[in-house]
Amino acid sequence: MAFLKKIGKQANTLVETTKINSSINGEKTTINKIYTQIGEKVYQAYEKEGKANNDLLDFCDQIKQANDKIVELQEKLLEISGKKICISCQKEIEVDVQFCPHCGGKQD
Ligand SMILES: [Zn+2]
Repeated sequence: MAFLKKIGKQANTLVETTKINSSINGEKTTINKIYTQIGEKVYQAYEKEGKANNDLLDFCDQIKQANDKIVELQEKLLEISGKKICISCQKEIEVDVQFCPHCGGKQD
């Protein structure tokens, strides 16, 4: 009987441990989401005011460089597919149209 009692206790411990580890991971996920939000707020302030805390300036510059690269790559994708962005509604349109099929806006 002592043996069965011991097995039962081990099973309970395993269930408890799994639950607690799951809770810890949930809290870690929450913290990481908040870190991301803090980072976004810092970057938004950097974009708006063009400055950031000295410790964070390098990170903001790196994000800006990555964003610039994304824009450059997106333009390349459009160029390859023969498309451009409408100057009025910002939707994707054929590069050779004079008027946007979505909003009717005249293109350059
Ligand atoms: Zn348009």
